[in-house]
Amino acid sequence: MNESPSIFDPHARPSLVGKTRAQLAEALGAIGVPEREQRMRVGQLWHWIYFQGATSFDAMLNVSKVLRAKLAEHYTLGRPQVVAAQLSQDGTRKWLIRMPPVDAQDKGAEIECVYIPESDRGTLCISSQVGCTLTCTFCHTGTQKLVRNLSAQEIVQQLVVARDMLGDYPGRTRPDDDGLIPAGEGVRPVSNIVFMGMGEPLYNFDEVNDAIGVLTDGEGLSLSKRRITVSTSGVVPQIAPLGEASGTMLAISLHATNDELRNKLVPLNKKYPLRDLLEACRTYPGASNSRRITFEYVMLKGVNDSPTDARELVRMLKGIPAKINLIPFNPWPGAQYECSDWETIETFSDIVFNAGYASPVRTPRGRDILAACGQLKSETEKLRARARLALDDEA
Ligand code: SAH
Ligand code: SF4
Repeated sequence: MNESPSIFDPHARPSLVGKTRAQLAEALGAIGVPEREQRMRVGQLWHWIYFQGATSFDAMLNVSKVLRAKLAEHYTLGRPQVVAAQLSQDGTRKWLIRMPPVDAQDKGAEIECVYIPESDRGTLCISSQVGCTLTCTFCHTGTQKLVRNLSAQEIVQQLVVARDMLGDYPGRTRPDDDGLIPAGEGVRPVSNIVFMGMGEPLYNFDEVNDAIGVLTDGEGLSLSKRRITVSTSGVVPQIAPLGEASGTMLAISLHATNDELRNKLVPLNKKYPLRDLLEACRTYPGASNSRRITFEYVMLKGVNDSPTDARELVRMLKGIPAKINLIPFNPWPGAQYECSDWETIETFSDIVFNAGYASPVRTPRGRDILAACGQLKSETEKLRARARLALDDEA
């Protein structure tokens, strides 16, 4: 990456891509479209932007020429710039995306998005913040200062960019035909989204929730709510509101079975201890055996990986519709932990499995392009993202 950061241009026309219906109506109102017409016009824009992936107002044939010209005079259909793209041997793709600066102080946030294809799904791992205010001791992002929250628009733009890169709009061609993008009947190139990139989504609740509204709108990007997973380190007061407002799947970064250890690994635990966290899971709106909560458990050598820990984990999740995802720790420069040995992970996994839980241990994907968990470059405060799948059951 050798380009210099973007410079804030106060005269730049704003992009409409990534906006919510309410924001589009506002943008139309600002250029004089009367209120009674706005709903219909928003519907048209919506179709072109999100269903067709239009990159120019000229493509919007059912919009009058006069309005198209006016739109182009004030707005763009611009996407954030992809400043680097990498393709792993296993088909994992990593894009470095630069968001235009939002004000004169902002140098332009950079985030990485990881795309993981499998035969029956394609998962996009996206970010909700640049950096993170929390300081989990095993997470590289936790060592970086928060730059800022991403807006709903920037969150949605990550999917729009991914679909651009995958040629996933009507009439577009795929970038390659190497079998690395799932293409079967009814399988969409990006079918699943996980909020497992950089940041704590529940500390940016409103923007994440608005973004989910756009991502799941049936007349546009049309993702299924059950194929969107929000991962949280345990912001207890926001868990029920998430279930009520968005209806998405929930993943909890658990990592420890007692408060003493979890206080060290996930310091937020001091504020919201395990008891409160598990209670919020037990009462999560919509949780059921067909909509289980994923509990993520990073395997740290000699720290949380004993058979006793495994048994305790099973005991504490009793009564919660749960799946357990064991994640081999991905080391990063300066990390104070090591990944558990393979035999230890297997023993742990067997105990969990024998207790009746599927306990997939995900092979890290995209290691050759440093796209696996904790491997994304961070010296320039970029995203550390998850390169594994958390979803096993969905609609
Ligand atoms: N802030 C949210 C979502 C982003 S982190 C959360 O904490 O859930 C996504 C997942 O990556 C979390 O489960 C986190 O615990 C895990 N993770 C962070 N660093 C990791 C590392 N070095 N190796 C493996 N998993 C890691
Ligand atoms: Fe933030 Fe999640 Fe990393 Fe913890 S694990 S520091 S909450 S991104």
